[in-house]
Amino acid sequence: MISKTIQDGINEQIRNEIQSAYLYLAMSAHCEAVNFAGSAHWLRAQWGEELEHAMKLYRYVYDRGGRVTFQAIEKPPSEFPSLMGIFQQVLAHEQKVTALINSLYATAIKENDYASQIELQWFVKEQIEEEKNASAIIEILKLAGESGPSVLMLDRQLGARAKG
Ligand code: MG
Repeated sequence: MISKTIQDGINEQIRNEIQSAYLYLAMSAHCEAVNFAGSAHWLRAQWGEELEHAMKLYRYVYDRGGRVTFQAIEKPPSEFPSLMGIFQQVLAHEQKVTALINSLYATAIKENDYASQIELQWFVKEQIEEEKNASAIIEILKLAGESGPSVLMLDRQLGARAKG
């Protein structure tokens, strides 16, 4: 059985993953509206990934004989800055998620919950990837200098992301 503390923490993280998904879908909708089709595609793929993260934790709670309870999610912003601004927001958001995962992992250590530590290790590793991907896009945008043609080229490249 899973402890109440861990169950509450994981339920909170399920909320955080769904909140992330909602934010990325809002960003995707914005990119769609301003004709950054590639970025819209990339962010929609990210939306799908975040929902998968939520479902991975959802499954885990039940595998451990716990119970999922849903928390409220917030309305995402409807206005977004430039492409550079958007990916800076993605990076900042993922850094926040990393801190939340780390704190949940610390709780699992305190609770001597080895199974949850192992489950959460996947998320700790995934966050390395998430931060790396957002940083890489920001670096390219820095090089591109946000000039028209190079931003359009990057947008096209983001459209080639496999999933979504
Ligand atoms: Mg996630």
